[in-house]
Amino acid sequence: MNKYYDVAVCGGGIAGISAALSASRQGKKVILFEKEYMLGGLATAGLVTIYLPLCDGKGHQVSFGIAEELFRLSITYGAENMYPTNWLDGVGERTEKDSRFEVQYNAQVFAILSEKLLIKNGVDILYGSYVTQTEVVDNKIKNIIVNNKSGKQVYGVGSVVDCTGDCDVTFLSGVPTKTFEQGNVLAGWYYYTNEQGYKLQMVGAADIPDEEKTGKEEKPLIDRRFSGLDACELSQMTCLSHQATLNNWLKKREQNNQMVISTIATIPQIRMTRKIVGEYELCSSEEHKFFDDSIGMVSNWKKRGPIYEVPFRTLYNKQVKNLICAGRCTSVDQTLWDVMRVIPCCAVTGQAAGLAATMTDDFSLLNVSELQAILQDNKVVLHEKDLNI
Ligand SMILES: Cc1cc2nc3c(=O)[nH]c(=O)nc-3n(C[C@H](O)[C@H](O)[C@H](O)COP(=O)(O)OP(=O)(O)OC[C@H]3O[C@@H](n4cnc5c(N)ncnc54)[C@H](O)[C@@H]3O)c2cc1C
Repeated sequence: MNKYYDVAVCGGGIAGISAALSASRQGKKVILFEKEYMLGGLATAGLVTIYLPLCDGKGHQVSFGIAEELFRLSITYGAENMYPTNWLDGVGERTEKDSRFEVQYNAQVFAILSEKLLIKNGVDILYGSYVTQTEVVDNKIKNIIVNNKSGKQVYGVGSVVDCTGDCDVTFLSGVPTKTFEQGNVLAGWYYYTNEQGYKLQMVGAADIPDEEKTGKEEKPLIDRRFSGLDACELSQMTCLSHQATLNNWLKKREQNNQMVISTIATIPQIRMTRKIVGEYELCSSEEHKFFDDSIGMVSNWKKRGPIYEVPFRTLYNKQVKNLICAGRCTSVDQTLWDVMRVIPCCAVTGQAAGLAATMTDDFSLLNVSELQAILQDNKVVLHEKDLNI
């Protein structure tokens, strides 16, 4: 593989797939570094297979472009569950009471189709490659250093998209980051098969932000919380997650001895770890607010109604000029983080970040109107006023 790329995408989860796709469609030389041997991150290897809503829950689609493209790709050969006939087939209503524009897909099929799509668009995928270091010269990342089967490798880059989910590249480059104060609860989602076929089993409570708690939440599996940023802690968490999966299965098996575990996650199921301190921090109270630098919109998977325009400034910090973030590590407050981390939002920020990375090596100087025009050409709707609600 070449040793210089116009755009380096670090991490191949939903954000990374979207960023690499968006950048490669501009005809640039793009490399994607992924530490696993599969694309999709939590959405595939992590067995989180529910593509949360592209709509606001009141009948309006709010996330478009690659967010919708990947949604459709994930169910090319059929959905696993929750197929939204009202959105895809025009059957039924799209009111506050009807199904939202979400679906459950097959993780392995989605991973393979994503890989095919990136290859078709000319992206060089380098699997088994852990980004461990960056070389910053004059406030720009000049080289990305990865460790893989071939040893330590150095890649020269024009601009960099941090899609590691944990903001690794940003942190390694000395840009300020913030961590998830509350810490993550333990999860052990897995798949089982029985006479009826196969099924996703969600083990572990959802991680509700403290300020949204009502007192009626499901109790976490164990009292301990996890930062997701420490190697020993992550290994312990993985072992505890495996144990929780086994316990859950053994209990179910008492009722049905035909039930077998078919798939367990191959990466830690951790929700929020570290995010960039961006030029702007989007707050949970800023629903329905107009931002002139919006790069697209997202909804709230937990509530019907809220729509957020996502400012371009939430994706970068001027300190390192050619570095931009996408996915679950963009600049939002602690409460909105639980909204912005999910699959459609990661695709929205990934598309914009990947495109921006083809346009400049200094994001603070980018002409955002030009970025917005190309996003619009690629079916993205930028502002709530354009939804004609
Ligand atoms: C238990 C649980 C349940 C969830 N439920 C849902 C749900 O139902 N629906 C939903 O939409 N979302 C859900 N989510 C959230 C959602 O799955 C993720 O937040 C989202 O998929 C994140 O995408 P991403 O691309 O930002 O990051 P990730 O999926 O974390 O991808 C990051 C990628 O980068 C790679 N990587 C990391 N560091 C490096 C490095 N240094 N070098 C090279 N590669 C690296 C990783 O291997 C990974 O492939 C859930 C999450 C969890 C943990």
